[in-house]
Amino acid sequence: MKREDLDLCVKCGTCRTMCPVFRVTGDEGGVARGKISILQALYQGNTRFSEETLDFLNKCVTCGSCEFVCPRDVPFLEIIENARTRAVSDGQIQIAKKVALKLMSTNRGISGAAHIGRLVPGDSGLQFKLPLINRHIPKPGKPLDSMLHEYSPAQGRKTFDVLYFPGCSMRYLYSRTAIRVVNVLNRLGVGVYLDFSQKCCGFPHLTAGDKETFNQLSSHNISRFSKFKDKVDYIVTACATCGSALKNNYALLPIPVLDINELLVDVLDISPTSFSYKKQPSTRFHHPCHLLKHQHVQNQPEKILAEISDYKKMEGSDFCCGFGGSFSVFEGELSRQIGDKKAELVKQSFEDHGIKEEVLVTSCPGCMLQLTDSLKRNGIQVPVKHIIDIIFEQMEDTHD
Ligand code: SF4
Ligand code: SF4
Repeated sequence: MKREDLDLCVKCGTCRTMCPVFRVTGDEGGVARGKISILQALYQGNTRFSEETLDFLNKCVTCGSCEFVCPRDVPFLEIIENARTRAVSDGQIQIAKKVALKLMSTNRGISGAAHIGRLVPGDSGLQFKLPLINRHIPKPGKPLDSMLHEYSPAQGRKTFDVLYFPGCSMRYLYSRTAIRVVNVLNRLGVGVYLDFSQKCCGFPHLTAGDKETFNQLSSHNISRFSKFKDKVDYIVTACATCGSALKNNYALLPIPVLDINELLVDVLDISPTSFSYKKQPSTRFHHPCHLLKHQHVQNQPEKILAEISDYKKMEGSDFCCGFGGSFSVFEGELSRQIGDKKAELVKQSFEDHGIKEEVLVTSCPGCMLQLTDSLKRNGIQVPVKHIIDIIFEQMEDTHD
């Protein structure tokens, strides 16, 4: 943590306008300005790295909304990651969080957890009895590894090949959507490689302060990417979190990384003439923080939706949903409160237009999970879909 970075903050309070934690708690300790003041005091020796300090640091979704609006370009995400790293190296990390991060560092650990998830009967309500879960969670799909080959060729004339980085959530939870990523790309003339030796992108570890494991995971993945250097034009991901980690936190990537929305719009230039569409659902888009604020991808998904559906911009479409990976587990109550605010905005947006057949679209599996839970808990009957799901469904004569 660099003292100069903290001192960039002029305490203007602009970050309060976008911080989801501040919106819910109204607490100065929730927002970047307050957290920076606490860290400055730590530097001056005015306060210890106490449990209370740690609590302030944990109450952050690491959404990057503060950085996105900060007029002084304060690198808040780096500041909070470094502060948490210091806490972890001091041994100040909850045991449960340590276990969860360990589990996520191996494919066997994640697939084992997904396997247990598949055994829970869908209507048992068991997830609401588990203290760290206590929310609607989808039943994990079959792992992607068991359903796709390592190469799926383009249909028709091939334009180029890509390496798909599905990430853990798409590989083990929303694998049906991941298959659709491959299917849509194949139909658009793109050959898709999968590498089942890839591991977690490491973002959960990085934001929790476990930099050592993040470094191990990113080095492993970079060495896997190198094997595809002469075969593919891009690495593509449809998980906003993985995209953020790969683009912003991986050193020396051998192949350029694109989010699926960038690939579809900026490279493939998909338009209504790319394929036929069968219906026009009413859509709103939730901008994942890791896509908008971490990667500055905004227009591409809106452009796609405007072409294939009756799309209207939703007020608060850029307001964080409150997921934040381990934040949703270890700060569950706060995460749910932020989710409730988002649900309110979704409800208002659809009610404003009096539309009946509606879909909330997003482009991150984490947001899908959180939004589905928030809408269900608030009795809002709007399905949440990944943008790839809606593209896939809009194609004529498609089958799963
Ligand atoms: S917007 Fe930036 S400069 Fe202003 S208080 Fe927040 S972190 Fe500090
Ligand atoms: S990263 Fe998000 S939750 Fe954390 S202080 Fe900034 S705006 Fe608030």
